[in-house]
This record gives sequence, structure tokens and C-alpha cells, in this order.
Amino acid sequence: MYTFDSPKVYKCRVKIEAVDSGVAKTALITGANRGIGQQVARVLAGDGWDVLVGSRDRQNGEAAARRLRKDTGGRLKAVELDVTSDASVAAVATKLRDGAIRIDALVNNAGIYGDARVRDGVARTIETNLFGPLRVTLGLLPLVRDGATITNVTSGLGALANLDEAHRRLLSDPALTRDALVAHMHDFVRGGGEGWGTDAYGVSKAALNALTRILAGELAPRHIRVNATCPGWVRTDMGGRGAPLSVERGAASVVFGVTTTETGGVFRHGARIGL
Ligand code: NAP
Repeated sequence: MYTFDSPKVYKCRVKIEAVDSGVAKTALITGANRGIGQQVARVLAGDGWDVLVGSRDRQNGEAAARRLRKDTGGRLKAVELDVTSDASVAAVATKLRDGAIRIDALVNNAGIYGDARVRDGVARTIETNLFGPLRVTLGLLPLVRDGATITNVTSGLGALANLDEAHRRLLSDPALTRDALVAHMHDFVRGGGEGWGTDAYGVSKAALNALTRILAGELAPRHIRVNATCPGWVRTDMGGRGAPLSVERGAASVVFGVTTTETGGVFRHGARIGL
């Protein structure tokens, strides 16, 4: 049985049935072992959520969950999850299903940046930043509750304005389907990441925004809200020390997606932005 450790009750293991009884909602955050994802986990755990701390490295995930339990007194558990691996997503789905855990908020936060700048990093960037959220969303969808939220962490670098005219039109076309988007992104990777007017990171996030809109439409019948939230330029390993925003401020911008009643939008600091 997959359980949440509760530091609040000495040696008590909170059974999953307690989660299902409406006592607490469950959030799963990818890439939550450091940076913005870790801070989102901290905020949600502090607000009483049961938090699954996604990390592709098991030890880093367990260390983060320990740290956050200590900081917040909340219920957090590490989940080994590499968003680029079908097998990893399937293993998590099995674990959650066996533990009768359902997800009330999925935060697709894991992302990479530097790889976009080298040619052989194009595939990895698209695989992580775009196909990662898609893979995790579809793989865990049977475990996502009706009425849940899915938050895709995007970037201002994915603004349509950064793309050339043809690809701007392509991604903003309301008739664009998920399959067509995936096919275009495979073409982009095969083309070495050239020809869209910006680098693979920007394209990955522009495509993530389009995917967000598409998934919001697909999942509306289940009242699952799907939004993209941009943290702004944040002082993390990715953003660097010169970034203007604290990790707390960036994470707050992301957490908006967890609780908003909106769907299909791109937001920064709670305001809809036209990316
Ligand atoms: P970060 O400090 O570099 O952390 C990235 C996180 O993603 C780490 O936990 C990393 O895990 C994880 N990750 C990378 N590849 C993964 C994979 N294949 N599977 C699972 N986890 C993976 O970055 P951050 O600044 O917190 O960024 C978080 C999100 O915000 C990203 O989507 C990023 O694009 C977006 N964003 C950031 C900024 C900014 O200024 N920082 C601005 C706009 C958008 P490891 O520790 O194992 O590497």
C-alpha cells in the first residue's frame, strides 16, 4: 500500500483511504526535487495538500520530500518519475492505482533549458518540455479526478511573437489537433530545430501553450481545467543568480494554476497573458 508519512502524528502512516475520504487533496508535481517545483510542493504541503514529489532521481526526491516534511510539517512523498520515459510514467501510474491514490492537481513543472542551445539537445528539449507533460498527463489521466487541475509550467520565451509568421499561425490555429501538433514537433526535431524563428526551448514552450489549449478542450467534459502558468524569470539553477524574481514569487505564479477556475489559458502572476 502506497502511503503518506505524516510527521504530525508520531509513527503514524496515513492510509490512502484517508486521502480518498476528502480529508486532503493530492497534488503531483514533476521535477519537484529542486527549484520552482520544490517550492510549489512546499506551498501546497503547507496548505494541507498531500504532495507527491516527482523526481527523476529517487534519492534526490526522497531528500526533497524529507526536507519539505521538516519545513512544513505536511504530508509529502517522493515519487520516482522521469518525464521522458514511458516506463517511468507507467510505473508511477501502477503505484498510484495500487495505492488507490487519485490526483486532484497535476503540475507539469519539469523542464530543461540549456540543451536547447546545442543541436543534439533539440530532441531532448522537446522530449522533456513538451512530450514530457503530454506523456505524464495521458499516462496518469485515469488517476486524475474529474474536476482536477492540470498546470503546465511555461515560459515567456514561448511567446508566439518569437516565432516566425507561419508557425505562429500554426500554433494559434483553434483547429490544431493534438496529433497534428505532435507530428509538427517530430518534424521540428527531425529538422534539427531550425526554421521556427526561435530555439528549441522557445518552441517547446510555445507548443506547450498550444497543447494546453487543446487538452483543455479535450478534458472539459470531465471538468478538468488545464492551464499554462509562467513563473517569470526566477532565481533557480535554470534562471541563474541574476534573475529578478525569488523562487517564492515564481512558484506563486505557478500555484495559481492549481486553484483557478479558468481553463485553457496562459497566465503569469494570476493574469492572463497573450502568449
Ligand atoms: P531547475 O531549477 O533547473 O529545475 C528543473 C527541474 O526539472 C529539476 O527538478 C529537474 O530534475 C527536473 N527535470 C528535468 N528533466 C527531467 C526529467 N526528464 N524528468 C523529471 N524531472 C526532470 O528549473 P526551474 O527554474 O525550477 O524550472 C522549473 C520550470 O519552470 C521549467 O519547466 C522551466 O522551463 C520553467 N521556467 C523557469 C524559469 C526560470 O527563470 N527559472 C522561467 C520560465 C519558465 P533534476 O534535478 O533531476 O535535474
